[in-house]
Amino acid sequence: MIYSDLHCDSISRCYEKGESLFDSKGHINYFKIRQLEKYKQCFALFVDDSKRGDTAFSYFKKLVKFYGNEIKKIQCENMTAVLTAENGACLGGDSDNVNFLAEKGIRMLTLTWNGENELASGCLSDNGGLKAFGKEVIRKMEKTDIFIDVSHLNEKSFYDVADYTASPLIASHSNCFSVLPVKRNLKDEQIKLIVERGGLIGLCFHAPFLTCEGSGSFEMIYRNIYRILSLGGEDAVCFGSDFDGGEPESVLGSLQRVKNLYAYLKGRGLQADILEKIFHKNAEKIFLSDS
Ligand SMILES: [Zn+2]
Repeated sequence: MIYSDLHCDSISRCYEKGESLFDSKGHINYFKIRQLEKYKQCFALFVDDSKRGDTAFSYFKKLVKFYGNEIKKIQCENMTAVLTAENGACLGGDSDNVNFLAEKGIRMLTLTWNGENELASGCLSDNGGLKAFGKEVIRKMEKTDIFIDVSHLNEKSFYDVADYTASPLIASHSNCFSVLPVKRNLKDEQIKLIVERGGLIGLCFHAPFLTCEGSGSFEMIYRNIYRILSLGGEDAVCFGSDFDGGEPESVLGSLQRVKNLYAYLKGRGLQADILEKIFHKNAEKIFLSDS
């Protein structure tokens, strides 16, 4: 089985905890990676909402450096790593820093986290959409081929972004609001728009966005897949686990357990060709220019 994943916070977690990704106590480490036949992972560098300006950009640069060192330690023939960034606050309020992201090989930027930043408003702020600075950043992202990640945006920002750009919209780690109505999940109309644009929706394992009483993670992943398929999203649905950032149930609490998820979904009747798309083929566009 090949597994591709649009979002994890393993680098940021290790940096904060002073651990190495090689033998990290978190969800992903070298030994867990070796248990998968083939594995492609977007490693997000996360800047929280409290950081702004030079403080945010300097912190971000430290994470980039840390990533460079750590990724060498876990490199193995079955893994491909791609660097991404979570929270446009990492730009420190200067759109020229988009070029820095491009130089470092960053393939995707999550425009906000939950709050408001210089670019737009996240899902926990009720007001405000995409700002003039956010538009400036999006234009530069388009020029430098950095994908736009709409996970965490509030609805106003989401639709502002969709109106402003014709680029594919990627929700790197978001589930369906119709399956579990929480602010971080996407409504059907948003999902349809992502599908129309040739974008991606990476299903997230973080239990508060996935599970509800009486239904475990595997069942709920199945329901999310079923919903997105019913909205025409056969080429859009994939995974964005949020490993090392979210809190998955123990059944999905470690990288190698995705094998059990695959077996479960197969047992529920999902065909092999659909599973192949969900587990790796759909996400391929993010990994195309990998090294
Ligand atoms: Zn996130």
